[in-house]
Amino acid sequence: MNVPDIIIAVDGYSATGKSTFAKLVAKEFAFLYLDSGAMYRGVTLYAMEKGFIGAEGSIDEDALLAAMPGLELHFEHSEEGTQLFTGPRNIEKEIRTMEVSGHVSPISAIPYVRAWVDERLHSFSEGGKVIMDGRDIGTTVFPNAELKIFMTAKPEVRAQRRYDELVAKGQVADLAEVARNLAERDYIDSHRETSPLRRAEDAYVMDNSDMTLHEETVWLRGLLQGKFGILE
Ligand code: C5P
Repeated sequence: MNVPDIIIAVDGYSATGKSTFAKLVAKEFAFLYLDSGAMYRGVTLYAMEKGFIGAEGSIDEDALLAAMPGLELHFEHSEEGTQLFTGPRNIEKEIRTMEVSGHVSPISAIPYVRAWVDERLHSFSEGGKVIMDGRDIGTTVFPNAELKIFMTAKPEVRAQRRYDELVAKGQVADLAEVARNLAERDYIDSHRETSPLRRAEDAYVMDNSDMTLHEETVWLRGLLQGKFGILE
């Protein structure tokens, strides 16, 4: 299928399968995949390692702000997929722990952090076909994206998926704790002042509670054909 050079923005609630879907689309239609959540997770890991997050979860915003110029994050794309690095260090695994998940939403609500991440997302995606997933891609990062998708699924389906994912990675997980973390992140992400999670008016909604991955790509294929007049 001959897809033009477009940006596809994929937004939605936590653990709705945005990255799985976006990676699949990237592979099938030769798009560059960029995971904006990984960037927020990278900043969070940095803040944790620098000791800017207190035991009760309080964030030393001034110290973080002052230290941000010392942080470098970039993606490397290989056979193993897209992975986040800071300098030569691959941090893809560390940014996916429950501990990082527990702190990432308050960190990503900080306006300076959002501006820092946005600037990098723009520079990573210059030209070509790009699919990026996150919470505010279609509303703030790329409001002119040619195709916007908003993903949602039932909370219990999402919690089970994320739990299975953590267990498959060999991490100790508790289903109730995973469900709590998702609900908490959804709440913070949707209620923050800067770029809250919301569906862009021109986004197509996909509820994948009962969809297989194959059905998701068939759905997208139909959308691409209809919207861009692509004949198979
Ligand atoms: O997508 P993922 O679950 O890895 O994102 C982690 C967190 O990063 C989200 O819960 C949200 O707080 C934040 N995020 C954001 N804006 C984005 C992507 C992620 O605020 N565009």
